Amino acid sequence: MAVAFLGIHVPLLTLLASFVMSNTYSWEIALRVLGVALLATLTGTAATLYALHQLLVPVRLTSTALQTYLENQSLPSLPTRFTDEVGTLMADTSQTLHQLDELMYCNSHYDHLTGLPNQALLVDRLRETLSLQTDHQRLVAVLLLSIDDFTDISHGLEPETLRLLLRGMSQRLTKDVVQDGLLAYMGKDEFAIARFDVTSPKSVIQLIQSLRAVLARPFFLEGQTVHITPSIGVVLQTIQEAQDIDQLLQQAHMAMHQAKQRGRGQYQFYSPETTAQLQNRLMLENDLHGALERDELRVYYQPLIDLQTGQAIAVEALVRWQHPIRGLVSPAEFIPIAEANGLIVPIGEWVLRTACAQSRAWQLAGSPPLRLSVNLSACQFSQPNLVETIAQILAETQLDPAYLELEVTESFLMEDIHRSVQTLQELRGLGIAIALDDFGTGYSSLNYLSRFPVTMLKIDRSFVNDMRVNPESAAVTDAIIALAKSLHLSITAEGIEDQEQLAYLKERGCEEGQGFYFSRPLPAEALATWLQTKSPAQPLPALTMAR
Ligand code: C2E
Ligand code: CA
Ligand code: CA
Repeated sequence: MAVAFLGIHVPLLTLLASFVMSNTYSWEIALRVLGVALLATLTGTAATLYALHQLLVPVRLTSTALQTYLENQSLPSLPTRFTDEVGTLMADTSQTLHQLDELMYCNSHYDHLTGLPNQALLVDRLRETLSLQTDHQRLVAVLLLSIDDFTDISHGLEPETLRLLLRGMSQRLTKDVVQDGLLAYMGKDEFAIARFDVTSPKSVIQLIQSLRAVLARPFFLEGQTVHITPSIGVVLQTIQEAQDIDQLLQQAHMAMHQAKQRGRGQYQFYSPETTAQLQNRLMLENDLHGALERDELRVYYQPLIDLQTGQAIAVEALVRWQHPIRGLVSPAEFIPIAEANGLIVPIGEWVLRTACAQSRAWQLAGSPPLRLSVNLSACQFSQPNLVETIAQILAETQLDPAYLELEVTESFLMEDIHRSVQTLQELRGLGIAIALDDFGTGYSSLNYLSRFPVTMLKIDRSFVNDMRVNPESAAVTDAIIALAKSLHLSITAEGIEDQEQLAYLKERGCEEGQGFYFSRPLPAEALATWLQTKSPAQPLPALTMAR
């Protein structure tokens, strides 16, 4: 301001002074003229500055509004009394800010692919709707829906086709199922639905049935037909219980995971008990990753006894997990997890390699050679390179294939009978024996049994366990022994826990047995000691069991 003042007035006053001087007025007159001129220019400047100040009011208001919007996203309500160009600028600014804000809201609250509200908006709306409800005993249902095998589906489709699938799903859900309530796209393959009009679990089940029916119709996408099934997790709570929205969504997630674990196209209502189980499972699953690398797995061996001679003739390799906090975890607990996430493939390979190496080491140490039985899981059995991997492990460990027996179950052989027969034949071709584990619990179809090139049946321990109290179990045991004999297969009974069971099986002609009566599964060194000291070499007692 001072620079402007001096810039304008100094040249003007200098000019005036030189004019007055050059016309030889007296000093007094000259000073008076200059004083008046100075006063006049000062007044003029003040008036101009005031006018400028007034003119800039809308500019200042606009600038403050922009500043406030940037700082806390609060939209300005700029005055409309200014009608000049600056007023127009102010109105344009206000309008642009409103449009920008709307755009930003859409971007951050709607999914651009499906056009549906996203999780943030769902949370906002749930919070708002729940806070407006006056009847706190009313029910609210939150359903979380996820496409089964989404990873496989997405790998099999072009990205654009996948986008069409998700868009198609959201259209069907919007149109056919969720006219009332909220529908949101939660990302990836997940959709959430919230309903405030449910009266009972039955009405939620009806909604689930509609959801399934709507999604069961195939999607025709750019020449491809895609079939999907959803897994659905449900939380059904009173408005009073459902105040913590994050917790509500977390519970829906848990329920959805449980539904997924039960297979495709299932639904699951949230319950704290099943959640505790799921949390335990998730923690185990988390820890299981890397358990091999951290050297936490162990192989235990349980002897199989020739029931006629009482001598150990084989050992079954059974994996254990030495968990750093939980201690020894049973395979019954972690094998199903490893099967579900595919970790069973490296774990199973490691068990096979370790057990073959151990078996070979016992032979080299001079122990009488024992057959080695190793369990195979469905996931391993379906690996395309299974036979080569096993052949390689045998070569590596120098174990004669004649000593190896693999235990398989009917349930997974039946998944693809043709391929199973072929794989079993290739394994038999290597000289490996094949036992059908847990026999009697699955299909036990004579037709298929004669087609599978197996060498041994293992009577499931549930029958052995039950024989004494349940005549049907005794009858099944008798039938399996007779079946094995007629098909010229060896026969082992699992789970022999007492002398009575042993005597019964022996009398029926069962050849081999395995169970706590002889020995629990033991670490390699303990089994070696057991074999030397406790192996029941004397003839086993022949008691008849009451039926
Ligand atoms: P399975 O193949 O039926 O193994 C026999 C199970 O019965 C073992 O349980 C063994 O400890 C138990 N058992 C043996 N004798 C008796 C008895 O007299 N009474 C009772 N109550 N149980 C007896 P474990 O070791 O807990 O293994 C459970 C299952 O885990 C196995 O059942 C098998 O299906 C699976 N598994 C264990 N190790 C492996 C492995 O390395 N690979 C694969 N794929 N599965 C394995
Ligand atoms: Ca087994
Ligand atoms: Ca078994």
